[in-house]
Amino acid sequence: MRLGSIINGQERSESNRDTLEVKNPFNQEIVAELALAKKADLDEAVTNSFETFHSTMKKMPAHQRGEILRNAADLLEENAEDFAQTIVQEAGKPIKYSRDEIARSVQVIRFASELAKNITGEVIPMDAAIGGENRMGLIKRIPLGVVGAITPFNFPLNLSLHKIAPAIAAGNTIVFKPAEKTPVSAYKLVKLFQQAGLPDGVLNLLMGTGEEIGSPLVTHEKVHKITFTGSLPVGRKIRETAGFKKVTLELGSNSPNIIFEDGNIQRAVTELVKGAFAFSGQVCISAQRIYVQKSIYGRFLEQFIKETKALTIGDPTKEETDIGPMIKEEEAKRAKLWIDDAVNNGAKIEVGGTRNGAILSPTIMTNVEHTMKIVSEEVFAPIVSVIPFDNEDEVIRVANDSIYGLQAGVFTKDIDRAMRVADQLEMGGVWINEISTYRQDNHPYGGVKQSGIGKEGIKYAIEDMTEMKFIGMKLMPKD
Ligand code: NAP
Repeated sequence: MRLGSIINGQERSESNRDTLEVKNPFNQEIVAELALAKKADLDEAVTNSFETFHSTMKKMPAHQRGEILRNAADLLEENAEDFAQTIVQEAGKPIKYSRDEIARSVQVIRFASELAKNITGEVIPMDAAIGGENRMGLIKRIPLGVVGAITPFNFPLNLSLHKIAPAIAAGNTIVFKPAEKTPVSAYKLVKLFQQAGLPDGVLNLLMGTGEEIGSPLVTHEKVHKITFTGSLPVGRKIRETAGFKKVTLELGSNSPNIIFEDGNIQRAVTELVKGAFAFSGQVCISAQRIYVQKSIYGRFLEQFIKETKALTIGDPTKEETDIGPMIKEEEAKRAKLWIDDAVNNGAKIEVGGTRNGAILSPTIMTNVEHTMKIVSEEVFAPIVSVIPFDNEDEVIRVANDSIYGLQAGVFTKDIDRAMRVADQLEMGGVWINEISTYRQDNHPYGGVKQSGIGKEGIKYAIEDMTEMKFIGMKLMPKD
């Protein structure tokens, strides 16, 4: 399958282009060949998006935007299995998790289709200011123009839709640069929107690397907003180079989960096994640090090890597989080095710690220090540290001792303590009696500190993808 960029509805896959192979991370089979975009394609895509915004999207009524999105959601639902299999092939994500991603993606588009018809403004009480009598003030929310969407490999469909669907709902046009490792689902998604009735040029797709296409997209003067999900180093660069554009950054974390002695241990264990190891830990809110109160530490660890050992590792196409490959063998090697480094400094491997090609076995570490990379940096691999603590103050201090702050989980039956801890954790979101890895697509989602800027979760992304326009009127007295 040869795939090219799609600009104004036309695919660019001529034979004279440079190419890149997309390989299945599990068996290295070639999934697709990408015909790469050039700088001239980027300029054309942005210019076309800019013109389409003014000629088409700005004038498109809300009911039509809502209908296109509704069609797209229905089409995705009809083609769910094909999209799920595509994600298995390009990302190596086990089929059960790939299916979950599609089901969430359908909901994301449905939320956007409903909200497209509910972007409301405000009436300002102008007479609240002295001299404001006989004046009327309105706020309308208007679209921005061209939104540049840059997405990662780990939820190639759902995280792309968290940008594309609200952008369409709000009346913007989009230049979409998916991760080069997972471009097939992105290509199919753009085709699906064409089928759903989205006019050409509203969603332009660029196939290319971050350096060659992502970077100039960020600096392009006709782009009004960059919405990015990915790693901290790239996010930092985008922030530095985006100039006056609005920027949303959804970055990484080393999410803490805190289990107090009155928490439901069994539920915490079962959920944390999923939360630490789903998609080999390549999830931004993966449970990376588990703090367990000392009185229940032994019981928790024993059960956690037992359930981790029961995970099925292997072929991501198989229904029973829990753990497949990481996205690249180099990533598994990097994660193994981090484990070895921790062990050399006194940490203990309770289970796992072995690598077979791109597959890293689910690994539980104890005796860790907060300075170790597996604790302090984003591990983005199936590695979790279990750390004992004495009391509430101590655990809040260590949980907050991070450059990141995306989501946390807290297990306790004590409502006062739950609310106290939630208030003090420096996070974009805190779950009580739920793990950090749980996310719904309709709540505000985004980090503090170096986990990011801005919020997603359809309604909140729409707010960030529109701006307020004030219209004031002086009401003339009767002659
Ligand atoms: P990444 O390496 O930062 O890549 C993300 C995207 O940025 C890709 O499309 C990449 O292109 C592009 N890119 C690379 N360099 C660029 C540049 N200089 N300018 C513009 N774009 C550039 O991240 P990843 O490895 O795909 O994803 C993993 C990271 O994403 C983790 O840190 C994870 O925590 C984070 N993440 C965060 C969230 C959240 O919601 N907070 C959700 C999921 C993932 P190419 O890959 O094509 O080169």
